[in-house]
Amino acid sequence: MGYVATMGALHDGHISLIKLSKERSDITVCSIFVNPTQFNDPKDLDRYPRPVEQDIEKLKRAGNDVLFLPEVNEMYGENESWHIDLGNLENVLEGKFRPGHFQGVTQVVKKFFDIIKPDVAFFGQKDFQQFRVIAKMVTLLKLPVELVMCPIMRDSDGLALSSRNIHLSKTEREQALSLSAALYQAKDNFETKTFGELKKDVEDFLNNRPGIKPEYFELADAETLNPADESSKGVVALVAAYVGKTRLIDNLILK
Ligand code: AMP
Repeated sequence: MGYVATMGALHDGHISLIKLSKERSDITVCSIFVNPTQFNDPKDLDRYPRPVEQDIEKLKRAGNDVLFLPEVNEMYGENESWHIDLGNLENVLEGKFRPGHFQGVTQVVKKFFDIIKPDVAFFGQKDFQQFRVIAKMVTLLKLPVELVMCPIMRDSDGLALSSRNIHLSKTEREQALSLSAALYQAKDNFETKTFGELKKDVEDFLNNRPGIKPEYFELADAETLNPADESSKGVVALVAAYVGKTRLIDNLILK
């Protein structure tokens, strides 16, 4: 059985995960659940889009077999607590700007794995750090599930698909292209510049783009997510920025 966890407001990125699951599994289960424990900003939780009827139509069209659509009170008891030692993985990048986020993510994903019991679970590279965090939980708790990382789906101009893109005005949509542009700039100069030069150039680029408030740009070791160095076998460029009130993330594997 293949499993795809989502928070709904489904787009072609989500559907690509469903398709990969269908290729690999006899039955595909998708969950839609806007998980309150992973939101560190209550306003972000409130305004998270929830177009359930449209989502159901999209899942039917994609040939998804089972939809799990629980309510918050079905997933959580009162005053539940959860903690897993994610080490430095939860202190860097997203973890630094969204304290507690990955505790909430692991809490809900562990519940979904327990309820659904998938053989394989498909997660997007779009949330690169999330994938690493879930992989760490699977190793620590010896969970019997295989994880597959699926490529990032983008619009034709490079913008990574995201449920949050719904919030972007026409101007902000244009401005948001600076995120993918920053990542491609890093890729283009990866062979010719040092990590330090590359990081500074891209940060300068982002700081001078209109409408963008960058939170971080990092060249990270693809395994540890600490800053990359010459010994890193894999290197990934990751960016997070506000475009207006909307916080977007993106990344690109450089090596
Ligand atoms: P979300 O609904 O944002 O929690 O995302 C659910 C799953 O879809 C996660 O595994 C994401 O990494 C994945 N995902 C989100 N956006 C994309 C995208 N543009 N391309 C591929 N997968 C994505």
